[in-house]
Parts: sequence; structure tokens; C-alpha cells
Amino acid sequence: MDFSYSPQEERFRADLRAWLADALPPGWGETVFEPEDEDERAMFRLAWERKLHSGGWSGINWPVEYGGRGATLVERAIFAEEMARVGAPEGLNIIGHNLAGSTILRHGTEAQKKYFLPRILSSEDVWCQGFSEPNAGSDLASVRTRAERRGDKFIVNGQKIWTSFAQYSQWCFALVRTDPDAPKHKGLSFLLIDMKSPGISIRPLRQISGECEFNETFFDDVEVPVDNIVGDINDGWRIAMTTLAYERGPEDALGRQIRFSQELEKLVGTVAATPRGGAKLIDDPIVRQKLARSITEVEIMRLNAVRTFSKYLNGDDRGPDASIIKLYWSHAAQNMYEAAMDILGPTAPIAAPDPLSAGGGRFQLSYLQSKAFTIYSGSSEIQRNIIGERMLGLPR
Ligand SMILES: Cc1cc2nc3c(=O)[nH]c(=O)nc-3n(C[C@H](O)[C@H](O)[C@H](O)COP(=O)(O)OP(=O)(O)OC[C@H]3O[C@@H](n4cnc5c(N)ncnc54)[C@H](O)[C@@H]3O)c2cc1C
Repeated sequence: MDFSYSPQEERFRADLRAWLADALPPGWGETVFEPEDEDERAMFRLAWERKLHSGGWSGINWPVEYGGRGATLVERAIFAEEMARVGAPEGLNIIGHNLAGSTILRHGTEAQKKYFLPRILSSEDVWCQGFSEPNAGSDLASVRTRAERRGDKFIVNGQKIWTSFAQYSQWCFALVRTDPDAPKHKGLSFLLIDMKSPGISIRPLRQISGECEFNETFFDDVEVPVDNIVGDINDGWRIAMTTLAYERGPEDALGRQIRFSQELEKLVGTVAATPRGGAKLIDDPIVRQKLARSITEVEIMRLNAVRTFSKYLNGDDRGPDASIIKLYWSHAAQNMYEAAMDILGPTAPIAAPDPLSAGGGRFQLSYLQSKAFTIYSGSSEIQRNIIGERMLGLPR
């Protein structure tokens, strides 16, 4: 395949660069950083996402009629590269953009597309994902949250768990059981639920990092209009598989690749500035090997994503190959943060603002967060099952 860019794509890059030069706060990444406080950081990310939208840089490859830019998947990849180059902040509404929006775009009614998609792109509505339950994580088809149809409404009862960003969300897409008598996969539906609905309560779950990114979400006689179903009743498994293909696919990996390459740059900078026995830590050949491995793996993440984009551009469907992307990036990132802790040694676990902390004291937080990478969006064991069964045709 050809990795070079067309004149139109290079123009897209130049326009974006010019816009970014004005849009980021002065001193960004050098003297100005994201807020430390979790809630303030969430609002900072929301404000950044809204700024991107007002500049016309939201929904790069989504159709113009739904508020997108109508650009190509390759331009979407260029967008990711340029965001990486400037160390742009993350967005808050990642689940809205990557999962809810992409699923509605693919399977939603015209009315759902017209209503929800522009609001996702402007981040007027932040979204969360209500898939997992206490006994339905890897075995997602075991979902037990019920939705009973009564007239023009569903009445939803049950519990979800690990609902990331529920505390900031206006909407949730949820997999619910609409036919308890049908085989597991066949009795599910995919509902769009307004988080302001009476009967929803959210209880935060504190993580090892001290943060509360995710929550338990309870539904107690929550009314959802029947118009808020995506696909047909009992067709939810098929719709959820689309969501998972996006969650594990190249869009997600490319966004993450940005953040990992920024962290890697920070790690290399920190190691280059750290003295060791009259020289610098970076002069140690073992350290250099570890860094080289991570630099290679993070670049492979990018190339994997771009290659898959190019397959889609050539007409291939999204499918189980997303599992290869997910499996690869989650381990590459864990390797990288393990290398950071290893290389930086005893100073690595020290948090800022302690003067002994290394690289702004954030590597230990990233290391702790990376433990979840091989669990969420489907654990590595499940990705290997999918690759084995659906791609290699191995027996179950
Ligand atoms: C940080 C974080 C954020 C999350 N955010 C969300 C969110 O926003 N919304 C949401 O819906 N969910 C979210 N999740 C939930 C996540 O999708 C589940 O944790 C994940 O699917 C694993 O399910 P489980 O935790 O129930 O583990 P289990 O299913 O109990 O699995 C436990 C272990 O057994 C292995 N295992 C299970 N079945 C098999 C099998 N058939 N073959 C081989 N091994 C198997 C698993 O791989 C795993 O190692 C989040 C999770 C984390 C950690």
C-alpha cells in the first residue's frame, strides 16, 4: 500500500495546523497543562472538544448533513497525527463520538441521525455506554437489565456497572433484555436512554488510581420512548456488535496512539534529562532498547490503524479484525508503561508535586490506568477467542 498523501490531504493538514496554532492555550504542554482535579479536567476536555467543533474540526469523516466535515478516512488519520504533533488534549465525549455516533450513523433512523448526531459532534450531549453488568462483561449476551414494552414506552429495570463518564453524561446507549424467553443473543435490544429520566441513579466506583472514572448505574422503572430503539426490537446484539467493532477498531486505536506517542515523547525527554553515573540515563544500552521497543510498538499501532482505514476505503467491511487492533494496542501500551516504571526506577512511583517525581509525576498514574487496557472493550482472552474462532476458523 501507498502511505504518501495527496495534495488535497496535504492541504487539509496545513489548514488544521494553522487552526491549531491559534486554538491551543499559549504555552500548551510546556507551561500550561490539563487541570489535576478530575472534574475540572473533564470540563477542560469538554471545552476543548467544543472549540474543535466550533472550528469545524469535529466529525472529520461524518456526512456534512449531520454536522460532520465530510472528509475522508485518510484525512481522519491526518487529523489524529496533527493532534498528536501538538499534544492536543483528549476529548470528554469519546464514547459519544466513537461509539454512540458511529452506531447511530450506521443503524439509526433518519430522525435519530438528525437529532443526535449534530448534538454529539457539538458535545452538547456527552454519552456513556451501558453494556456491562455485574454478571455480563465478557459474556455480554448474559445482560439481564429488562425493558418491557408498554404502549409507546419501554420500562427499564436493572443495573449496569463500569459505566465510564456516566456522571458527565446526558445520554446512555444500553443493551437491554426485551425477550427473556428467547435464546440469550436473540432477546436483546439497543436503547438510547436520556440520563435525566426519573429512576436513574449513579454511584461512583473509585479506582486504584484514586479517580472515579466509572460508576454503577441503576435503572428503576425508567421510561424510554419506543422511538429511542436502534434497530428492531430483539435485534440489539447485531447493533451492539457494530458498537464493539468501532470500540476496538482503528478510530479508537488512532486516538490512543496519539496519547501514547505523547507520553512516550515525555518519557524519552525525561530519560534524556536524567543523570546516571556521570552520563545520562538514556545512554544506557538496555534503556535504549526498551525505549526503542516502545517507539516501534506505538508506531506499529498507528500503521495498523492506517492500514485498516485503507482496507475500509477499498470497500472492506468492519469485522473481527478490530480484535487484532485492540489486542495489539493494549499490550503495546502496557509494555510502554511498564518500561517507564522500570527505567525510571525508584522515582517512578513518586507523584507530583514532589520534587523527586519524574516527568511531571504522571507515569505512575498512567501505569495504573494501563492495567485496565487489557480488560475494557473486551479482555485480551476474549479478543484471542474471537481471532481464533472467527478469523482463523479454529474449533470452539
Ligand atoms: C476502566 C474500565 C472502563 C470500563 N468502561 C465501561 C463502560 O463505559 N461501559 C461498559 O458497559 N463497560 C465498561 N467496562 C467494562 C468492561 O467492558 C468489562 O470489564 C469487560 O468486558 C470484562 O468483563 P468483566 O469485568 O465482567 O470480567 P469477566 O467477564 O468476569 O472476566 C474475568 C476474566 O475471565 C476471562 N474470561 C471470561 N470469559 C472467558 C472466556 N469465554 N474465555 C476466556 N477467558 C474468559 C476474562 O477475559 C477475564 O480475564 C469498563 C471496564 C474498565 C476496566
